[in-house]
Amino acid sequence: MTDTIFSKIIKREIPADIVYEDDQCLAFRDVNPQAPVHILIIPKVAIPRLADAEESHQNLLGHLLLAASKIAEQEGCGDAFRLVINNGEKVGQTVFHLHVHILAGRGFGWPPG
Ligand code: AMP
Repeated sequence: MTDTIFSKIIKREIPADIVYEDDQCLAFRDVNPQAPVHILIIPKVAIPRLADAEESHQNLLGHLLLAASKIAEQEGCGDAFRLVINNGEKVGQTVFHLHVHILAGRGFGWPPG
């Protein structure tokens, strides 16, 4: 797989506003925020899309959600935050390294646009 911009952030080849890191994942502020809080959590292993995840990634996927919850608390989001995973170009995925968006700090409509 070719390097994405997110692999370069993991390797510290390009800068990012990192808010959380552990052995399995990294979280940083989105460069084009869609809400007052907009953070991306990425696994350190490069899985292009959620649809490419395998059984062996089960613990990692759970880890990303628990990290999201911790980060939301750390960011003062209380109980009001939304997680988004875009899977595929047709629904807006632009970076092909799995990432979970944490969005908070304003109201969000449902159904999503
Ligand atoms: P998606 O459209 O779901 O693939 O989300 C990709 C997200 O990555 C977008 O919200 C972009 O604003 C964000 N993004 C792209 N490049 C960077 C970067 N260098 N640092 C932080 N966020 C980025």
